[in-house]
Amino acid sequence: MKNLWRVIQFIPEYRGRVAGVILVGTFLGFIGTATPYIYKGIVDVISQLFSGKITLDSATASVIWLLLGFFALRLGVVLFGALQNKQADDLWLDTVSTFRQRVFDNMTQKSIDYFEKTRVGEIMDRFGNITTITMWLSSLTEGTLANILQMFFILVVLTLKVPVVGLMMTGILLFNFWISYRTIGWTKPHRRGWQEFAGRMTGLLAEMVGNIATVRSFGGEPAVKQRYDDTQAQWKVARDNLHKTQWRSEQALNVVNTFGVFIAVAIITHGALHGRFTTGDILLVLTLTQTLITSISPISRQINQASEIESASERLVELLDVASEQADKPDAIPLTQLKSITFADVSFRYPGTEEYALKRISFHLDAGETLALVGSSGSGKTTIVKLLMRFYEPTKGVILINGRDLRDYQQRSVRAIMGVVLQDVALFNDSIGENIAFAKPGASELDIKAAAEAANAHQFIARMEKGYETMVGERGIKLSGGEKQRVAISRAILKNPQLIILDEATSALDSESEYLVQQGLEKLMSERTSIVIAHRLSTVMNATNILVLRNGEILESGTHAELANKPGGLYAHLFALQTQGRKPLVGIS
Ligand code: ADP
Ligand code: MG
Repeated sequence: MKNLWRVIQFIPEYRGRVAGVILVGTFLGFIGTATPYIYKGIVDVISQLFSGKITLDSATASVIWLLLGFFALRLGVVLFGALQNKQADDLWLDTVSTFRQRVFDNMTQKSIDYFEKTRVGEIMDRFGNITTITMWLSSLTEGTLANILQMFFILVVLTLKVPVVGLMMTGILLFNFWISYRTIGWTKPHRRGWQEFAGRMTGLLAEMVGNIATVRSFGGEPAVKQRYDDTQAQWKVARDNLHKTQWRSEQALNVVNTFGVFIAVAIITHGALHGRFTTGDILLVLTLTQTLITSISPISRQINQASEIESASERLVELLDVASEQADKPDAIPLTQLKSITFADVSFRYPGTEEYALKRISFHLDAGETLALVGSSGSGKTTIVKLLMRFYEPTKGVILINGRDLRDYQQRSVRAIMGVVLQDVALFNDSIGENIAFAKPGASELDIKAAAEAANAHQFIARMEKGYETMVGERGIKLSGGEKQRVAISRAILKNPQLIILDEATSALDSESEYLVQQGLEKLMSERTSIVIAHRLSTVMNATNILVLRNGEILESGTHAELANKPGGLYAHLFALQTQGRKPLVGIS
């Protein structure tokens, strides 16, 4: 239960309200135990009347009091029941909302490494556990604890009245709980499998939906369907085993409980025949035993589910436990003005990998200059940018900004001065205007439009049916690559950053889009510090310094003029390849 406990501690402020719900529940349980006494009273009065022990008048008087008492108790049930119902539902609503909000906040802080390695569906599935867990906790506070207290009252009453029956029923109850508890252990492996496969199925679905175009174009439907079906078959087996185990325990308990009730009835009837109990006593004991037996199964079920909830909690806690981003140092300072960026002997290995993705990278970039990174894919270009944004920390060496360790700055302030345009543009399923304004919440329409104009995006947006209000669809699916790219550039222009980072911003585009995008980029880059990663060397020719990377190492560095004429150089070779037999690319004069 340690995971569930941790989950509960995630929302400690509701303790008082939980206690309130339990208190009202206790009261309800108490009324539940008291009611059969009224039945007993009425039956006893009537049998005394029939055996001539009391007069009709005194019998009537007693019955009236008893009826009034009965009415008061029922009214109590109605009122407290209504109160508890409202209380408990409000409580659940608040806890589930607070919980989701906290986990969501928490997720925004997770290290990038986690997101790079985890399936979206997996995260969704774990997130969904919040509902299951809070529901269970809610029914525990609302019904089950009160039920348990009621059982306790009943056992006390029974033991005082007929000790044999009371003790026997206590034994039976303990046996019930023991078996339910043991069942948790017996079902554990099946249950874990069951949840794991369910999570995997959600993951597969999310992956299929996200990659539908690829799946279709490769005719991959049978393959993904097969994977899904296989997982589902495993899920079914696990679920079936789980249920079989539970079913066996449940049936065994039913048999034991039936015998228990039978023996209780036999004992009490035998006693009544020998004049030890009144007719009312028989009714009292029968009602109480029956109530006891019927309230066992919801409690057993709750105990049974406890393990499900515990493993759901485990999955949720794992989600919460994922390393968060590096926290800022307590005395971290804000970065306001970028003056220089220096990589000093930086080597880097991704967590959990052996191979170094970057080896002894050193360079220096002053404000206003442009650094270009060139190299085949996998050579480490993007990794350099990730380190600069502090998504990861260098394994060796140090990154300096304005001559000071990057780790001395507040991370948000470092990222705030950067504007990043990537090859794979991330858009939200929102309007184009909102997507541009993402860089600067609260930006005016005028600013948004100006940014879009500068990025050559305004023309195509204005042509759309709803202009800036047009929804872009999931991940911007309704826009072409070039259009998305220009939205991303508008976003960066609106942010007006001191440092521009372009990671293959134009490599997926056709020449015409590239021309349009390029113009936007030039406006964005003019008079700003920039880091440009590009396959097409046309984009990097004007850089102050070009680094040619191979396998995470700097192979060559210098200006275009220096590198292009270096005999036997990689850059010279690539440049020759790209210019051979082709019209000069846009940007080459
Ligand atoms: P580039 O941008 O030059 O194409 P990257 O910087 O993306 O190359 O990748 C450099 C190397 O690091 C590659 O070998 C790549 O497989 C590896 N790599 C990239 N991201 C991760 C990651 N999250 N975990 C492990 N290895 C990674
Ligand atoms: Mg890359």
